[in-house]
Amino acid sequence: MTRVLHVFWHDACLAHDPGTGLWELPGQWPWLDEPEPHPENAARLRTFRAVLRRGPVAGAVRWHDGRMASPDELAAVHDPDYLSAVERACAGPGQVAVEQNTVVGPGSWPAVLAAAGTTLAATEAALDGTAPMAYALVRPPGHHAQSAAADGYCLVNNPGLAAARARAAGLRVAVLDWDVHHGNGTQELFYADPDVLAISIHMRHGAWGPNHQQTGAPEELGSGDATGRNVNIELSLGAGDAAYLRALDEIAAPVLREFGPDLLVCASGFDGSAFDPNGRHNVTADGYREIGRRVADLAEELTGGRVVLTQEGGYLRGYSAFCLHALAEGLVGVAEPAAEDPLAYVPDDSASRPERTDADLALVRKAVASYWPGLGW
Ligand SMILES: [Zn+2]
Repeated sequence: MTRVLHVFWHDACLAHDPGTGLWELPGQWPWLDEPEPHPENAARLRTFRAVLRRGPVAGAVRWHDGRMASPDELAAVHDPDYLSAVERACAGPGQVAVEQNTVVGPGSWPAVLAAAGTTLAATEAALDGTAPMAYALVRPPGHHAQSAAADGYCLVNNPGLAAARARAAGLRVAVLDWDVHHGNGTQELFYADPDVLAISIHMRHGAWGPNHQQTGAPEELGSGDATGRNVNIELSLGAGDAAYLRALDEIAAPVLREFGPDLLVCASGFDGSAFDPNGRHNVTADGYREIGRRVADLAEELTGGRVVLTQEGGYLRGYSAFCLHALAEGLVGVAEPAAEDPLAYVPDDSASRPERTDADLALVRKAVASYWPGLGW
């Protein structure tokens, strides 16, 4: 192993309890014999921690204490009135849905502060060189949260806070988001900032409600001087490992090289996995390992190795945990995977039939070409 993965953790992230219902929908569902736990639950984060402690990659992982953010720190990317409203909703005594499937209750506000503060601790350590490759293993996730809107289990935009911290230090930042869903919140926060390149690789799911009006289409390019600095790579449903790696190699990497960031921020979701109930994008542990390798290589090439990763989705917790382990293997650069994928069997249609990915990537090139003339697209 050639690199160390620095993981940042805070116990208060476990205190957020979105309760039970029908998958992500809270409440009583009388047709069900047993209500289901909300998919974004504490057990998944504990499981993610366990694989990094107990799996073969553990020797390359260093653990760091996170911290609580201050309300002022959250206001770097959020409207203060919105933050007050979320804090009030978290006051209890019961659980409250602040939007359709984003549920809060007692314990949620400390978790929000811990997720944000731990992300900032990871960012500070990446920037000062003490933890160049820093993973904020946090919840609730963040990449859907907008300045004044909760969305998709997200309340405060953790990757956005990381990017804003680096921007405040005068740095150029690239955000790379491989959660299966469009990073609409991060897109919104930096839509007019030419010094933030936001790249999101996601399934073609479109807009999904009043708090998620962005479509994730390649035509959402940014505004003003920042036009072309928002790059949406939509992949057709059931994409597969080959499609993801082509999206990275053929679109994300050349755009990143052309942009030249000082810091890479990654929104790291595993809900693109072959076994995720929220995504169905057929990425396997092998695919995540290769994503990890590419991220580490790009960071070494472009940012002096500085990369901050925030935990986003991933909801079949056992398989998501194996995907996290594989990503970590790629990030630290193991020669051979030490852990076998116990579940992989879904064929990768994107490897045997590349035409669909060809078409998906052509749409992205067409949308962004005139803003990146150096790429010759
Ligand atoms: Zn997601």
